[in-house]
Amino acid sequence: MSENNPFEIAQRQLDECARILKLDDSVREVLRVPMREMHMSIPVRMDNGKLRVFQGFRVQYNNARGPMKGGIRFHPDETIDTVRALSAWMTWKTSIVDIPLGGAKGGVICNPKEMSVGELERLSRAYIQSVSEIVGPEKDVPAPDVYTTGQIMAWMMDEFSKIYQKNQFGLITGKPLELGGSAGRGDATARGGCYTIREAAKNLGINLKGATVAIQGFGNAGSFAASLATSLLGCKIIAVSDSKGGILNKAGLDVEAVIKHKEKTGSVVNFPKSESISNEKLLELDVVLLIPSALEGVITDKNASNIKAKIMCELANGPTTPEADDILYKNGVHVIPDFLANAGGVTVSYFEMVQNFYMYYWDEALVHERLDKKMTSAYNATLNASKKYNVNMRKAAYVVAVGRVVEAMRLRGRI
Ligand code: NAD
Repeated sequence: MSENNPFEIAQRQLDECARILKLDDSVREVLRVPMREMHMSIPVRMDNGKLRVFQGFRVQYNNARGPMKGGIRFHPDETIDTVRALSAWMTWKTSIVDIPLGGAKGGVICNPKEMSVGELERLSRAYIQSVSEIVGPEKDVPAPDVYTTGQIMAWMMDEFSKIYQKNQFGLITGKPLELGGSAGRGDATARGGCYTIREAAKNLGINLKGATVAIQGFGNAGSFAASLATSLLGCKIIAVSDSKGGILNKAGLDVEAVIKHKEKTGSVVNFPKSESISNEKLLELDVVLLIPSALEGVITDKNASNIKAKIMCELANGPTTPEADDILYKNGVHVIPDFLANAGGVTVSYFEMVQNFYMYYWDEALVHERLDKKMTSAYNATLNASKKYNVNMRKAAYVVAVGRVVEAMRLRGRI
């Protein structure tokens, strides 16, 4: 495996945590690999009448703490090692927010942008048929991820309900509201991240009113983060970006106007009353808060020493390499690590499962209140471990999350 292989990185992070927790080697060996993985060939009838075979995966990493949970990606560059790494991170993510679930992930190698709606529907139904024996409300609960949508979740839920001859809303989360989706799921990832930023600022004695913010990525996570950092925390967003480039206004950007501009033109670039800035320079701005919300691997040993933010909240998965982590810690940048910072999405997905089980739905205010409780206590557990073990926040989050999984495995007699 190469050094940039995400599964290799996930295993290196676990090894470091095992060292801190002084885990027995045999326990570490169990935790380093998925419990089970399924590889399938999925034939789908295309619109031209021909069959095409797609490769799909479902990786079930660990279910010691409860049914497994994790999204399904439809992506042309999907690889089994990406899915393995993401399934491991899901295990630590559900554990850090202390919800009674394990971790899994799925994917299909395909390009949804080149497929018709009918082809996508047939692929979605065929995927869930092929995993139907290993998923389900009490086994493993999928969700949307890269290039999969609420509509795709609805088709999968419908197909699974047909197989089992009863409604199975609890099979999958991220469903449309009309089919058992939860209020508050749309902005849950960014909102959860904002709650952790609020706690970090309290801990560091930073006043967030008017504090400057730069955000890389302006999709689901990044654009909601811009709105909520303004409305919930009173921050001033001075720079945002997307794949086409970035914009900067030191006096503060009008976030709602940027969102409208992006809807109209497809990008944040060329927003009036702003100057352009590259994605690389955006990361190095002199701001209080930096929120990477786009890609993995953007903060490395090459640029980590140029990061000036006091708090970095990783809404993206894997934006920082292990080498960069050490530099940031040495320079006093307070990092809220990805599987803690972006756990709001899976937390509200868990709320969706709960509501599906008892068939009674919460209003948005209740979802927000319960999400806040989960994120606040996850942040504080991580901060306490960071002080206790004298390690950075990522290692601390690992210590808490892996520690809980190990304890569940021990109590079940698995280790
Ligand atoms: P998205 O597709 O909605 O948005 C991604 C954004 O990143 C877009 O604005 C895109 O233009 C931008 N981008 C792409 N390439 C870029 C580049 N080279 N430089 C700068 N920007 C670039 O995706 P999302 O759902 O917002 O997810 C973003 C990150 O957050 C991912 O790492 C994802 O795994 C993570 N995440 C998202 C959620 C969620 O609920 N949406 C939950 C957990 C983690």
